This record gives sequence, structure tokens and C-alpha cells, in this order.
Amino acid sequence: MLGNYGGMLIEHTDLFLVHCPRCNSCARVFTPDNAKGKDEPRYIGHESKRLLCSKCGLTKDIHPKRRWDNLWAFNHELFNEKHGVDWYFGLPLYLQRECCGRKLWFFNLEHLHRVEDYVQKRLRPFRPYYLSVESRLPKWMKLSKNRNEILKTIEKLKYTI
Ligand SMILES: [Zn+2]
Repeated sequence: MLGNYGGMLIEHTDLFLVHCPRCNSCARVFTPDNAKGKDEPRYIGHESKRLLCSKCGLTKDIHPKRRWDNLWAFNHELFNEKHGVDWYFGLPLYLQRECCGRKLWFFNLEHLHRVEDYVQKRLRPFRPYYLSVESRLPKWMKLSKNRNEILKTIEKLKYTI
């Protein structure tokens, strides 16, 4: 599931910006303080989660359950971010847009800024081979010919919030 964005992704999964299923505004998916099973052993990514829309007030919580092996986990598989949705409720990510014939998406603004920073610094049109091997971004995002379009799309996304 962590596929393309690799290690970078997991650091940004504490907040997903999604389209509210009720009013379509920007809602948040995060770990509430009263998470059940917080101090118990659990699968990474299987903490209690809350969907909250500050525009219309929609609130929805999901909690992991204790499994046969004593770990806390959700009954359902986490949703796949490659479909442009959050892991927990499967709602469309708010920060996503067509770019270079693909889909550019981010979990939240911090994630967006981090990728923007990478694209600005590393993808110099005149230094096409200077690519960090640590980077787990999809290949199309690492091509210098796509640099300008990616940066433009990121700029537009910033103003949708
Ligand atoms: Zn709403």
C-alpha cells in the first residue's frame, strides 16, 4: 500500500484532507485523543480515527477491534491511496488534480510542501540526471520535463484550501 511514495507517506498519515461526504467541503481525518486501544499493541495505521467537517459538523469515528492474536486492527482493509482516497473512510482526497496525464495527490499541506520542495530543488531542467535515489516518488514526478507542470499544479492546489 505504501508503494510509490514509500517512507515519505507514512509520516504524513496523521492527517488526511478529504471531501466531506455531506457538503463536499474540506474535512479532516485524524487520530482523536480518546482513541480506544491507544496504549495497546496494534497494527501501524490502525488507531481510532475521526472524520470531522468543520463546515457542516459531520463527525464520524471508527475504532479498531481486538483480534484473535490480541492486536488491535480494523475489520476492513485500509483503502488504497492510489485510488485518490484516504486510508480509513475511503473518501476522495481534497488535494488532488490531473497533472501530466496522471493524478497528482497529497494527504495534507505538509505533504504537498514536502513534495514541492523536492521537485523545486532536485528537478533542474539542466541537470536531468541529478535525482535522489532515496526518493520514492513515482517516476513521472521525477522527470525534469514534468517539473513545471507539477509545480504549477501544486500552486493551484494550494489555493483550493
Ligand atoms: Zn461537511
